[in-house]
Amino acid sequence: MQLPALGLVLFTFGNVSAADRQKRVFAIKPSGVPYKDLSPEKMVIVDFDGNTVEGNLRPSSDTKTHAVLYKHWENINGIVHTHSTYATAWAQSLRDIPIFGTTHADHLTVDVPCAQPMNDEMIKGDYEYQTGFQIMDHFTERGLSYEEVEMVLVGNHAPFTWGKTAEKAVYNSAVVETLAQMAFLTLQINPEAQKLKDSLIKKHYERKHGPASYYGQ
Ligand SMILES: [Zn+2]
Repeated sequence: MQLPALGLVLFTFGNVSAADRQKRVFAIKPSGVPYKDLSPEKMVIVDFDGNTVEGNLRPSSDTKTHAVLYKHWENINGIVHTHSTYATAWAQSLRDIPIFGTTHADHLTVDVPCAQPMNDEMIKGDYEYQTGFQIMDHFTERGLSYEEVEMVLVGNHAPFTWGKTAEKAVYNSAVVETLAQMAFLTLQINPEAQKLKDSLIKKHYERKHGPASYYGQ
């Protein structure tokens, strides 16, 4: 319900899930139900193969993408998908979001990756299931860690984000939208803008992450 409140979704767009690793299931938003009408009873409980195990409503149409990511990425417990405007515009442009500033470096040390559109065979097959592999294959190809980079743009589609909790995944969905908007404006003001230099990337990332972090309480 934070997604519309944060201006990240319209109508019934988007979805969120939260996993219970011990029971190997996740709770996900029901398909097509307005956010204001959501309640715990309306959540659908699904296993990591995408089978509904509890609930009366149909799960989000993107459920299989969530299931694939939970099954293979063992340290995530929350996933969010939105069509937030600026992040989606970068996804539609098939462009990574360049790391232009310290706001970006506070969250990740690389460009936000954009996975290229899947081939026709994958699209005609089990599309939502394949979207999970499209994301994972892209991380493998680029040598990225899903624990360090908690967001991706699915080419021609929109962002997916994740985290150790559903709350962190929601936070990351707002972060990727802000980074996308800032990068867009940066290029409007200066089309020749350069990426952040390594020393500033390292400084800002390490202030918030790792053994030497000193940000926050
Ligand atoms: Zn979508």
